[in-house]
Amino acid sequence: MTIDWQSITDEAVQHLQALIRIDTTNPPGNEQAAADCLAQLLAREGYAPVVLTSAPGRGNVVARYKGRGDAAPLLLLSHLDVVPAEPAQWEHNPFGGEIVDGMIWGRGALDMKSIVTMQLMTMLLLQRGQIPLARDVIFAATADEEAGGEYGAGFLVENHPELIRAEHALSEFGGFPLEFGGRTIYFCQAAEKGFCWLRMRARGQPGHGSMPHPDNATVKLAEAVGKLGRARLPYHRTQAVTEMIHGMANAIGGMQGAVLRLLLHPTLHPLALRALASSSFERFFYALLHNTVSPTVLQAGSKTNVIPSEAVAELDGRTLPGQDMESLIGELEAVIGPGFEFEPIHLGPPLAISSETVLFATMARVLQRHDPGAAVAPLMMAGGTDAKHIARLGIPCYGFSPMRLPPEFNFLAMVHGHNERIPIDGLAFGVQALYEVVEEYCQ
Ligand SMILES: [Zn+2]
Repeated sequence: MTIDWQSITDEAVQHLQALIRIDTTNPPGNEQAAADCLAQLLAREGYAPVVLTSAPGRGNVVARYKGRGDAAPLLLLSHLDVVPAEPAQWEHNPFGGEIVDGMIWGRGALDMKSIVTMQLMTMLLLQRGQIPLARDVIFAATADEEAGGEYGAGFLVENHPELIRAEHALSEFGGFPLEFGGRTIYFCQAAEKGFCWLRMRARGQPGHGSMPHPDNATVKLAEAVGKLGRARLPYHRTQAVTEMIHGMANAIGGMQGAVLRLLLHPTLHPLALRALASSSFERFFYALLHNTVSPTVLQAGSKTNVIPSEAVAELDGRTLPGQDMESLIGELEAVIGPGFEFEPIHLGPPLAISSETVLFATMARVLQRHDPGAAVAPLMMAGGTDAKHIARLGIPCYGFSPMRLPPEFNFLAMVHGHNERIPIDGLAFGVQALYEVVEEYCQ
């Protein structure tokens, strides 16, 4: 089948504009309208999509392209909700889907209605071409990712696992280019850190504020929070980061490549981090080589003249692959000493899958075909995605949301930031690259 990519791009632009104009700000979400809209588009082309409502207004849509069944399905997973926007801070209406200077503007233009659109176009192209495939391709556009996914991917995993079970999934984020050391590198997510949100409690003797004593819970907590804020937790080199840094270092070579490789050295890595200090990458690499903790919420006392008997801090902890709550708490106690109580607020496991698979090689081959000279490397994210939910079904997930973006385009600042937008060229690149990866991998 020869595909007229210009007209497919025009069609994709219209679908993305329509999705942006459906306000799915989470909370409250209201993804139902977007799920219904996608279901109609899919049904019109001969699919039998299922809309699954997890709570009033919270819609998820799933559709399946049938292959021969010689291999297990590939899942295209996306989310329909977006984070809130502050319209007064935007140059164009965040829910307008306007086209200005070759860019489509709006909340979700990057995260991730553009990727929903790419995945939708892949489904439509497979169906229109009646492409023979060895495996099924499943489309699942879900609610609630930005608030944890309980009403979206989590709901599907718990209530409809048979609809989404697959050998691999593709979702956000990856396949976007970053300039590093003079090379363009497309990063495809193969690992992400875990959440380990903790409540830390200090206890002490209550008393009258007029008679200070040393066993003051507020003071003990404040001292511990200060230590945690300044602490550097132990260094851990993981397989996922090793693969990522080797991929980057091989791409850029030279001195800069050598500095990157030093990040993997058990004692010399602080030198490499210092060498990166002038770039925005220092904090990023630090997070990929250490468990981290950010004290965020504090609660202590209720009256100025009463010394409280307890004080509580909430800690945003993030764990590397191979680490868990116990090992993180051990690292925290090594900094603050004993005498504090910890309880979990919210836990999500770290994930890491190999980048040495046929699917990853297909992603790399397609990206390099469309951007010769660029390199491809696996990525570990410091944050988390819905990949955590589907990991419970044993489905490994790559972040693959291909886009070609101009070097000056600050992708990372726009995701969840003001003035989110995507170049039409970048969307067109993604529509074609994703389709080709799916077709070539599933054939
Ligand atoms: Zn997202």
